[in-house]
Amino acid sequence: MTDVLVVAAHPDDEVLGCGGTMARLAGEGCSVHVAILGEGITSRSERREQADRAALERLHGDARAVGELLGARGVSLFSLPDNRFDTVPLLEVVKIVEGLVAEHQPRTIYTHGARDLNVDHAVVHRAVLTATRPLAGGCVREIYAFEVASSTEWAFGRVAGAFAPNVFVDIGDTLERKCAAMARYESEARGFPHPRSREALEAIARRWGSVAGVGAAEAFELVRAIR
Ligand SMILES: [Zn+2]
Repeated sequence: MTDVLVVAAHPDDEVLGCGGTMARLAGEGCSVHVAILGEGITSRSERREQADRAALERLHGDARAVGELLGARGVSLFSLPDNRFDTVPLLEVVKIVEGLVAEHQPRTIYTHGARDLNVDHAVVHRAVLTATRPLAGGCVREIYAFEVASSTEWAFGRVAGAFAPNVFVDIGDTLERKCAAMARYESEARGFPHPRSREALEAIARRWGSVAGVGAAEAFELVRAIR
Protein backbone atom coordinates (compact mmCIF):
# COMPACT_ATOMS: atom_id res chain seq x y z
CA MET A 1 0.00 0.00 0.00
CA THR A 2 1.22 3.43 -0.97
CA ASP A 3 -0.38 6.61 0.32
CA VAL A 4 0.41 8.76 -2.69
CA LEU A 5 1.20 8.02 -6.32
CA VAL A 6 2.34 10.86 -8.55
CA VAL A 7 1.77 10.18 -12.24
CA ALA A 8 3.68 12.64 -14.43
CA ALA A 9 4.38 12.81 -18.15
CA HIS A 10 7.92 14.19 -18.06
CA PRO A 11 10.85 14.45 -15.68
CA ASP A 12 10.28 17.79 -13.86
CA ASP A 13 6.44 17.76 -14.01
CA GLU A 14 6.35 16.05 -10.63
CA VAL A 15 8.37 18.92 -9.14
CA LEU A 16 6.49 21.71 -10.87
CA GLY A 17 3.12 20.15 -10.13
CA CYS A 18 3.43 18.90 -6.58
CA GLY A 19 7.07 18.94 -5.45
CA GLY A 20 6.32 20.93 -2.31
CA THR A 21 3.32 18.79 -1.45
CA MET A 22 5.26 15.58 -1.99
CA ALA A 23 8.06 16.74 0.29
CA ARG A 24 5.56 17.82 2.93
CA LEU A 25 3.58 14.56 2.82
CA ALA A 26 6.73 12.44 2.87
CA GLY A 27 7.96 14.46 5.85
CA GLU A 28 4.67 13.73 7.62
CA GLY A 29 5.23 10.00 7.15
CA CYS A 30 3.24 9.30 3.98
CA SER A 31 4.67 6.86 1.47
CA VAL A 32 5.04 8.55 -1.89
CA HIS A 33 5.91 6.92 -5.22
CA VAL A 34 6.63 8.82 -8.42
CA ALA A 35 5.98 7.50 -11.92
CA ILE A 36 7.18 9.36 -15.00
CA LEU A 37 5.65 7.92 -18.13
CA GLY A 38 7.63 9.70 -20.86
CA GLU A 39 11.33 9.51 -21.59
CA GLY A 40 11.65 13.32 -21.84
CA ILE A 41 13.59 15.67 -24.16
CA THR A 42 13.66 13.48 -27.32
CA SER A 43 11.27 15.90 -29.02
CA ARG A 44 14.07 18.47 -28.97
CA SER A 45 15.83 16.54 -31.77
CA GLU A 46 14.56 16.42 -35.34
CA ARG A 47 14.05 12.69 -35.02
CA ARG A 48 13.52 10.68 -31.85
CA GLU A 49 16.37 8.29 -32.64
CA GLN A 50 18.82 11.20 -32.97
CA ALA A 51 18.29 12.19 -29.35
CA ASP A 52 21.34 12.64 -27.17
CA ARG A 53 21.45 9.36 -25.22
CA ALA A 54 23.90 10.70 -22.63
CA ALA A 55 21.61 13.67 -21.94
CA LEU A 56 18.68 11.29 -21.59
CA GLU A 57 20.58 9.14 -19.09
CA ARG A 58 21.54 12.25 -17.13
CA LEU A 59 17.91 13.33 -17.07
CA HIS A 60 16.79 9.96 -15.74
CA GLY A 61 19.53 10.07 -13.10
CA ASP A 62 18.25 13.53 -12.15
CA ALA A 63 14.70 12.15 -11.85
CA ARG A 64 15.85 9.53 -9.35
CA ALA A 65 17.90 12.04 -7.37
CA VAL A 66 14.98 14.47 -7.32
CA GLY A 67 12.64 11.74 -6.06
CA GLU A 68 15.03 11.10 -3.21
CA LEU A 69 15.37 14.80 -2.45
CA LEU A 70 11.59 15.12 -2.18
CA GLY A 71 11.26 12.05 0.03
CA ALA A 72 9.73 9.63 -2.50
CA ARG A 73 10.29 5.98 -1.70
CA GLY A 74 10.73 5.14 -5.35
CA VAL A 75 10.69 6.50 -8.88
CA SER A 76 9.45 4.46 -11.85
CA LEU A 77 10.58 5.61 -15.27
CA PHE A 78 8.86 4.63 -18.50
CA SER A 79 9.74 5.52 -22.08
CA LEU A 80 6.73 6.85 -23.92
CA PRO A 81 7.87 9.15 -26.76
CA ASP A 82 8.32 12.75 -25.66
CA ASN A 83 5.58 15.12 -26.88
CA ARG A 84 4.15 12.27 -28.93
CA PHE A 85 1.92 10.48 -26.40
CA ASP A 86 -0.94 11.13 -28.82
CA THR A 87 0.72 8.70 -31.27
CA VAL A 88 0.53 5.87 -28.73
CA PRO A 89 -2.74 3.96 -28.34
CA LEU A 90 -4.43 5.31 -25.20
CA LEU A 91 -4.87 1.73 -24.04
CA GLU A 92 -1.09 1.34 -23.85
CA VAL A 93 -0.84 4.34 -21.51
CA VAL A 94 -3.80 3.07 -19.48
CA LYS A 95 -2.07 -0.30 -19.07
CA ILE A 96 1.00 1.39 -17.61
CA VAL A 97 -1.12 3.26 -15.08
CA GLU A 98 -3.13 0.14 -14.27
CA GLY A 99 0.13 -1.67 -13.59
CA LEU A 100 1.27 1.11 -11.27
CA VAL A 101 -2.02 1.10 -9.39
CA ALA A 102 -1.97 -2.69 -9.02
CA GLU A 103 1.59 -2.62 -7.75
CA HIS A 104 1.39 0.36 -5.39
CA GLN A 105 -2.29 0.38 -4.37
CA PRO A 106 -2.32 4.17 -3.91
CA ARG A 107 -4.98 5.91 -1.90
CA THR A 108 -4.33 9.28 -3.53
CA ILE A 109 -3.08 10.18 -7.00
CA TYR A 110 -1.63 13.49 -8.12
CA THR A 111 -1.49 13.93 -11.89
CA HIS A 112 -1.92 16.31 -14.80
CA GLY A 113 -5.04 18.22 -15.72
CA ALA A 114 -6.72 17.66 -19.07
CA ARG A 115 -6.42 21.22 -20.34
CA ASP A 116 -2.68 21.79 -20.50
CA LEU A 117 -1.06 22.93 -23.72
CA ASN A 118 1.22 19.90 -23.68
CA VAL A 119 -0.49 16.98 -25.37
CA ASP A 120 1.30 14.38 -23.21
CA HIS A 121 -0.22 15.93 -20.09
CA ALA A 122 -3.73 15.58 -21.44
CA VAL A 123 -3.14 11.96 -22.42
CA VAL A 124 -1.85 11.14 -18.94
CA HIS A 125 -4.90 12.72 -17.34
CA ARG A 126 -7.22 10.63 -19.45
CA ALA A 127 -5.21 7.46 -18.86
CA VAL A 128 -5.32 7.98 -15.08
CA LEU A 129 -9.08 8.52 -15.11
CA THR A 130 -9.54 5.39 -17.22
CA ALA A 131 -7.19 3.23 -15.16
CA THR A 132 -8.81 4.27 -11.87
CA ARG A 133 -12.48 3.97 -12.74
CA PRO A 134 -14.17 3.63 -9.36
CA LEU A 135 -15.10 -0.03 -9.49
CA ALA A 136 -16.04 -1.87 -6.30
CA GLY A 137 -12.95 -2.60 -4.21
CA GLY A 138 -10.83 0.05 -5.94
CA CYS A 139 -8.07 1.52 -3.78
CA VAL A 140 -7.92 5.07 -5.20
CA ARG A 141 -9.98 7.42 -3.05
CA GLU A 142 -8.76 10.81 -4.27
CA ILE A 143 -7.38 12.22 -7.50
CA TYR A 144 -5.94 15.72 -7.79
CA ALA A 145 -4.88 17.55 -10.96
CA PHE A 146 -1.87 19.79 -10.62
CA GLU A 147 -0.64 22.84 -12.47
CA VAL A 148 2.57 22.65 -14.51
CA ALA A 149 4.25 26.01 -15.03
CA SER A 150 4.93 26.58 -18.75
CA SER A 151 2.11 24.30 -19.85
CA THR A 152 -1.08 24.82 -17.84
CA GLU A 153 -1.05 28.62 -18.11
CA TRP A 154 0.26 28.58 -21.69
CA ALA A 155 -3.02 27.06 -22.87
CA PHE A 156 -4.54 30.46 -21.94
CA GLY A 157 -7.77 28.69 -21.10
CA ARG A 158 -8.29 28.04 -24.82
CA VAL A 159 -7.86 24.27 -24.82
CA ALA A 160 -10.90 23.65 -22.64
CA GLY A 161 -11.23 26.19 -19.86
CA ALA A 162 -8.66 27.53 -17.43
CA PHE A 163 -7.08 25.85 -14.39
CA ALA A 164 -9.50 26.42 -11.53
CA PRO A 165 -7.96 25.07 -8.33
CA ASN A 166 -10.05 24.38 -5.26
CA VAL A 167 -7.50 22.60 -3.06
CA PHE A 168 -4.43 24.35 -1.69
CA VAL A 169 -1.51 22.77 0.14
CA ASP A 170 0.64 24.97 2.36
CA ILE A 171 4.23 24.46 1.18
CA GLY A 172 5.82 27.18 3.28
CA ASP A 173 8.23 24.64 4.77
CA THR A 174 9.05 22.84 1.53
CA LEU A 175 9.10 25.55 -1.15
CA GLU A 176 12.86 25.77 -0.84
CA ARG A 177 13.16 22.03 -1.46
CA LYS A 178 10.88 22.30 -4.49
CA CYS A 179 13.13 25.00 -5.95
CA ALA A 180 16.26 22.96 -5.17
CA ALA A 181 14.70 19.93 -6.85
CA MET A 182 13.90 21.97 -9.95
CA ALA A 183 17.45 23.30 -10.05
CA ARG A 184 18.65 19.68 -10.09
CA TYR A 185 16.96 19.31 -13.47
CA GLU A 186 19.60 21.33 -15.27
CA SER A 187 18.21 20.52 -18.72
CA GLU A 188 14.72 21.69 -17.74
CA ALA A 189 15.24 24.70 -15.44
CA ARG A 190 15.35 28.14 -17.09
CA GLY A 191 16.21 31.71 -16.16
CA PHE A 192 13.61 34.35 -15.27
CA PRO A 193 11.12 35.29 -16.71
CA HIS A 194 10.60 31.71 -17.89
CA PRO A 195 7.85 30.01 -15.79
CA ARG A 196 10.30 27.25 -14.81
CA SER A 197 12.75 29.72 -13.23
CA ARG A 198 13.22 29.86 -9.46
CA GLU A 199 11.78 33.37 -9.35
CA ALA A 200 8.64 32.31 -11.21
CA LEU A 201 8.15 29.17 -9.10
CA GLU A 202 8.40 31.25 -5.95
CA ALA A 203 6.00 33.84 -7.35
CA ILE A 204 3.49 31.14 -8.30
CA ALA A 205 3.68 29.60 -4.82
CA ARG A 206 3.26 33.03 -3.20
CA ARG A 207 0.34 33.83 -5.47
CA TRP A 208 -1.53 30.64 -4.52
CA GLY A 209 -0.50 31.22 -0.93
CA SER A 210 -2.19 34.61 -1.06
CA VAL A 211 -5.33 32.98 -2.43
CA ALA A 212 -5.35 30.49 0.43
CA GLY A 213 -4.19 32.71 3.29
CA VAL A 214 -0.79 31.04 3.76
CA GLY A 215 2.74 32.07 2.89
CA ALA A 216 3.19 29.69 -0.06
CA ALA A 217 0.99 27.03 -1.61
CA GLU A 218 0.59 24.55 -4.41
CA ALA A 219 -2.83 24.55 -6.04
CA PHE A 220 -4.86 21.57 -7.24
CA GLU A 221 -8.16 20.75 -8.79
CA LEU A 222 -9.97 17.98 -6.98
CA VAL A 223 -10.89 15.56 -9.75
CA ARG A 224 -12.63 12.97 -7.62
CA ALA A 225 -12.91 12.02 -3.96
CA ILE A 226 -14.65 9.03 -2.47
CA ARG A 227 -14.86 9.03 1.31
ZN1 LIG B 1 5.44 17.93 -18.92
